[in-house]
Amino acid sequence: MLDFLLLALLVVAIAIGWWLGRLQRVPLVRNSQQQNMLPRDYFTGLNYLLNEQPDRAIETFIQALEVNSDTVDTHIALGALFRSRGEADRAVRIHQNLLARPALNAMQSDQVQLELSRDFLQLGVLDRAERLLQQLIRDTQDNDIRRSAKRLLVDLFEREREWQQALDVASPQLMRQEEDMRRAAAHWLCELAQQHLESASPSLARKHLRQALTTDPACVRANWLLANIEREAGNYKAEIRVLRRIPEQSQGFTPIVLKPLRDAYLKLEDEEGLEQSLRLLNEPMPHISAVIMIAQSMIRRGDHAGATAFAVEQVNANPSLRGIDYLMDLYLLDRSVPQHENIALLQQHISKRLDALPRFRCQRCGFSGMQLHWHCPRCRSWGSVKPINDLESE
Ligand SMILES: [Zn+2]
Repeated sequence: MLDFLLLALLVVAIAIGWWLGRLQRVPLVRNSQQQNMLPRDYFTGLNYLLNEQPDRAIETFIQALEVNSDTVDTHIALGALFRSRGEADRAVRIHQNLLARPALNAMQSDQVQLELSRDFLQLGVLDRAERLLQQLIRDTQDNDIRRSAKRLLVDLFEREREWQQALDVASPQLMRQEEDMRRAAAHWLCELAQQHLESASPSLARKHLRQALTTDPACVRANWLLANIEREAGNYKAEIRVLRRIPEQSQGFTPIVLKPLRDAYLKLEDEEGLEQSLRLLNEPMPHISAVIMIAQSMIRRGDHAGATAFAVEQVNANPSLRGIDYLMDLYLLDRSVPQHENIALLQQHISKRLDALPRFRCQRCGFSGMQLHWHCPRCRSWGSVKPINDLESE
């Protein structure tokens, strides 16, 4: 209903705009039949809209446009409104009808083509959208329209997972001007690197990852993939070096580094190096996963009491559900602790709660889940999903 109200308001605005324009242009000569024709069409259209008959409303507006094409911008807005209501097919009809008007100047025609390509994108008719956008980028004289067309084409190539083509469109102008575009481009390079890894070409993958880091030095994923390459090759020292760069790029990503870091140190049988590394990571921002790994390392070295004391001290300083869960683990290991069954029962409840908690959240749109997505499935922004580091999860 709110949408219809918006549409209705828009149509009233068109009618008033037309009527005022008419008054200014023809102050003396009055031809009542001609003057009344357009508002009547608009109000008929408005009536159809209010009666939820959008197709008949569109027909009426299209007829009205044949008399006067001064209202192109408002008709573009009407099309955009239909598109935002998920009715891109109706928007296509409005925009195609506009394009057929010989009265459009070059810039208006470019604008309508841009809108039409947005309609096709929403309808999933990607080949037609691509053709229109390529043509616009080539022919338009307007820089703003060219930039918008490039952004839409990048969006289209992202959907088709055509990473190299997205890079070709965005480079160099969009990448120079827009930080979001640079961040996205680094991820496209990571996608290309992953394809090379799948076809067993690690040297080409490395090349793309280095390029990704030049494009966006904060690209965590590039170092994450470089670390994977080193691990696959058995270069654990190199893997550790790369992994330790990730918290320097973004402290929030520390939790994803911990497990591979521990595994690499264990492969090297370097328990001391592991503990030192974990303590360094835990210093600037406490992470319960790091605390747990430090305690586990102490236990492996036979210091059970020291591990418990350390974990208690850390959980007291930074209470968290996962920390309490781990303390219970430690108490359960010690058969001399009283109320053993009760602790086990409590821990069951906490574990169930922890298992149901999301681990990652998008900083842009709030989407959360158990998996790390480099490309947010909801808002489609790159690198915005990060590990959750709050009282419950971490
Ligand atoms: Zn998001």
